[in-house]
Amino acid sequence: PLVLGIETSCDETGVGIVRGTRLLAHEVASSVEEHVRFGGVIPEIAARAHLQALIPTIRRALEAADVTLDELDAIAVTAGPGLAGALMVGVSGAKALAAAAGKPLYGINHLVAHVGVGLIDGVRPEAWGDALPEDLGALLVSGGHTEILKVDSLSTDVTLLGSTIDDAAGEAYDKVARLIGAGYPGGPVIDRMAKEGDPTSFRFPRGLTAGKFVCSAQEPGKHRHDWSFSGLKTAVSRAVEQFEARDMQVPAADIAASFQEAVADVITAKAVRACREHGIRHLLLGGGVAANSRLRGLLADRCRSAGIELTVPPVNLCTDNGAMVAALGARLVMDGVAPSPAELGADPGLPVQVVSV
Ligand code: ATP
Ligand code: MG
Ligand code: FE
Repeated sequence: PLVLGIETSCDETGVGIVRGTRLLAHEVASSVEEHVRFGGVIPEIAARAHLQALIPTIRRALEAADVTLDELDAIAVTAGPGLAGALMVGVSGAKALAAAAGKPLYGINHLVAHVGVGLIDGVRPEAWGDALPEDLGALLVSGGHTEILKVDSLSTDVTLLGSTIDDAAGEAYDKVARLIGAGYPGGPVIDRMAKEGDPTSFRFPRGLTAGKFVCSAQEPGKHRHDWSFSGLKTAVSRAVEQFEARDMQVPAADIAASFQEAVADVITAKAVRACREHGIRHLLLGGGVAANSRLRGLLADRCRSAGIELTVPPVNLCTDNGAMVAALGARLVMDGVAPSPAELGADPGLPVQVVSV
């Protein structure tokens, strides 16, 4: 099926078009520049930017794919989770488009869409054939998410194995970047600075790993596969303060490298552990933090040691985009899943188990 996908859950207006598993168009307009002076995504600004970018981005995607609205078999849109106002622009736009063109509409889950990237020709390893393998997991690491999922069926059966209990990994990057005066978005800057620093100079905490990954004495096993980055952020803040209090220059590169090491270490250790305990043999990486050099390197090493096949899509398909929404939409059409009701709305807190609404 020929499917157009729309993504507006955060600060990227993404429109993608697929025919089955073949990617025909992949257009993204980002409002990231407008958030730089605030050091984080401002929801109202993001929503307004989506409003301005949505129709031009849809036009560009249709042109790039060389198809007309009329030829589409379905339209898919991110219904949640994400920023309420931002989601609403995409959902309203998609509803209007679907109604005007007389096409079925699929409101889909943003997190599951990140996994849908694995369906796309060229991303999907050849050994998988046409479908996703049964023992598949996904590690999603972005500005808003840090999650490990078990994917038994992309269209009907996705389970959350673990997630962050406070900040997302990308959010921690952004906050630490601010602490060491590195600018926004923090991920790329810290990644670059870390190359000049010594990752062993500070031993920053790996959250929720004390006592064999058991965090609470009252509830052993609780948070076994979860992450926490707030203690790490506090530890960085203390380190910075200690230098400042003594009027010493803050060793920003060493702090960046040590912070990055702590993030990569705890994310990969817990992800691989979750995979082992849940029989996951294939792991797909997604989210903007997938661009991180140390995370990629360490995850590849640890997956190899654990006998897990790792798939890392190109970065522009890891960050938020419409192609993943289109790819998941096409899968739903092929699996005979019913389209969304006409009264489809945005759901900022949509749980990951709900693949489509
Ligand atoms: P969502 O959480 O809904 O997916 P988002 O816009 O926060 O949305 P992405 O666009 O996927 O997430 O990714 C942006 C995040 O990725 C930012 O927090 C940014 O700092 C981080 N990031 C980008 N490049 C790197 C890198 N090289 N290392 C670490 N983090 C990075
Ligand atoms: Mg973004
Ligand atoms: Fe995302």
